[in-house]
Amino acid sequence: MKAVVLENKGVITYKEVPTPEPAPGHLRLKIKAVSICGSDIKRYVDGHRMYPLILGHESAGVIDLIGEGVNKDYLGKHAAVIPLVPCFVCEQCQRGFYSACHNYSFIGSRQDGCYAEYVDLTEKNLFVVPEKLSFEHVAMIEPSTVARHMLALGDFKRGETAIVLGAGSIGLMIVQWLRILGAEKIIVTDILEDNLKIASKLGANVTVNPSKVDMVKELQKLVGDGADLTLEATGVPQVLEQTLPITRPRGTIVLAGNQPLDKSLPLTFIENLMRREISLKGCFMSYSAPFPGHEWAETIDALLNGSLDIETIISHRYPLSQAPEIFEKIGAHQLTHQKIVLNPEETV
Ligand SMILES: [Zn+2]
Ligand SMILES: [Zn+2]
Repeated sequence: MKAVVLENKGVITYKEVPTPEPAPGHLRLKIKAVSICGSDIKRYVDGHRMYPLILGHESAGVIDLIGEGVNKDYLGKHAAVIPLVPCFVCEQCQRGFYSACHNYSFIGSRQDGCYAEYVDLTEKNLFVVPEKLSFEHVAMIEPSTVARHMLALGDFKRGETAIVLGAGSIGLMIVQWLRILGAEKIIVTDILEDNLKIASKLGANVTVNPSKVDMVKELQKLVGDGADLTLEATGVPQVLEQTLPITRPRGTIVLAGNQPLDKSLPLTFIENLMRREISLKGCFMSYSAPFPGHEWAETIDALLNGSLDIETIISHRYPLSQAPEIFEKIGAHQLTHQKIVLNPEETV
């Protein structure tokens, strides 16, 4: 089969690789759509833990082959890939904290992923979906679940006011979940006007561009003593620091942006956090018990009833074969984009 393989830091190729044959207990998914995640780009630009590796974890397809011992009813079913492969036995898995598993794998990061014609999976890593959903939309269930999980971690309640820092793909998913779950006011910040326009279309009530105004002052004008919930999705240290003065005392901040590891925060951050008795919560992936969690089922419901808009956040579609040039362009900051969908079938 053809696949897109990360060969080394900054080196990605489209080439022929062995087609997976499912082992006993495994299934094979014929990939119909896979979207590019910011983490895939990071693995390409900054380098990764292992090579060669087929990237890609936001994906959907059709189950086309089953290994020994797998129920035949799976054949032909449409499914989303659940990329986390927890051990299900360690202390954290027992608690249902799967993303803290002591011994996990991850499709497209620690084992071969979905930038390919086929991917090999276990039953637990397939989320069977209704056939009427488009594969492109199903591929984006995973990033939606991360946003939904952030709101669960932030204990979001209907009627609350929220600030979303960063209107990239996760930020735009968060905006939608805030709208779906009944936020009173959704305020979104981003330095790109295009991102803010999309955020408004998806449910933001107010948008603020920090490259044009003093962000903290502007947000304080809008929320007074602070928002109930602040969601950080930029991964920029200065933005992280600014979360405190815009969150109300006893409010909550949830972090999902990956911060640069060579930077640090002044301890005044902790001082201010303590004085305002703010809860700071980390978010890593999207899982809860029972695996993969309510985030997944709720996303399906939102896709079926039309409340989750995926179409608006898809900016580009390409055949899988073009992935190397697309990564090169993104790495060189020559392609502004929202979600990019790759389609393996168009390569034939
Ligand atoms: Zn992702
Ligand atoms: Zn485990």
